Amino acid sequence: MALTLATEVVTLHTRHPFIIARGGKSEYRVVWVRLTDGDGIEGWGEADPSSYYGETADTVLEKLALLEPHLPADPFELEAAEARFAAAVPGNGAARSALSAALHDLVGKRLGQPLWRLWGLDPATAPLSSFTIGIDTPERMKAKVLEAAAYPVLKVKLGTDRDEEILRTIRDATDKPIRVDANAGWTVERAIAMLPVLTDFGVEFLEQPLPPQDLEGLATLRRQSPLPIIVDESCIVATDIPRVASAADGINIKLAKCGSLREALRMIAAARAHGMRVMVGCMVESSLGITAAAHFTPLVDAADLDGAALTIDDPFVGATIERGRIALPSAPGLGVTRR
Ligand code: MG
Repeated sequence: MALTLATEVVTLHTRHPFIIARGGKSEYRVVWVRLTDGDGIEGWGEADPSSYYGETADTVLEKLALLEPHLPADPFELEAAEARFAAAVPGNGAARSALSAALHDLVGKRLGQPLWRLWGLDPATAPLSSFTIGIDTPERMKAKVLEAAAYPVLKVKLGTDRDEEILRTIRDATDKPIRVDANAGWTVERAIAMLPVLTDFGVEFLEQPLPPQDLEGLATLRRQSPLPIIVDESCIVATDIPRVASAADGINIKLAKCGSLREALRMIAAARAHGMRVMVGCMVESSLGITAAAHFTPLVDAADLDGAALTIDDPFVGATIERGRIALPSAPGLGVTRR
């Protein structure tokens, strides 16, 4: 019996405007997707569109309508279904990933097992998740560091003309490990000049210092960098990995970029084959979106799954982050319920 699709736009608000190198806001429209099978079992997923990758809640709804005729009659046909989705709607990772999550949720519920268990994973081996401090005034950044007291690792957004001041503000407020994400905001020269500063402030690794296409610049920077360099905007899907492998030490996987849970697993395998580190990140998302990514965290080295923790009106309960520790639900499928 055919699956039926229901969609609903959910508006999330962040505690503070979430600002990165290319701007920011405090209101995020995401799309909640429900697939219902003939027995009335529901699989849930969430699309978390990013305008940087050309998606909004409206384009997600539009693309979901195009994807609906390609839903499988049997939800267990995950591989074939995802291949049809990618052929019918290339790009649009957020829209496709919502259906992928919903199908995986449905399969787990039909089998009575949490997704991590179907994948043979041990939730206890998941890395800690960092918590992100967005760009702000020194006073407000100090306040955010205090608010993040429960998180053992911080990620700091840079890519401004006052990056040293930002780092000093954070470092003066805490001794915690910090990671830096420049969100493509630096030139090679600027990045090279920042290396000793990052080292002085004890930064663990550097994410996406340069514009996504500048892999030559990235390779030059990497040769001089004492810190590991992780690519995010430069690496969308598994086939990007051979291209970035000689220019970076690791990749940041996001479901909204790669478009499916199975593609995320392929990215992990491809990155490992190239000896690379693997990190998983997110957009501003509810716990429904975060939980889909959290299920494969036992396979990665670093996690930045703070998307739901940044919001004040998360409608779902799923994977939680307690003192940085990612706790995966043990209920079948994604294990997400409404709050
Ligand atoms: Mg990033």
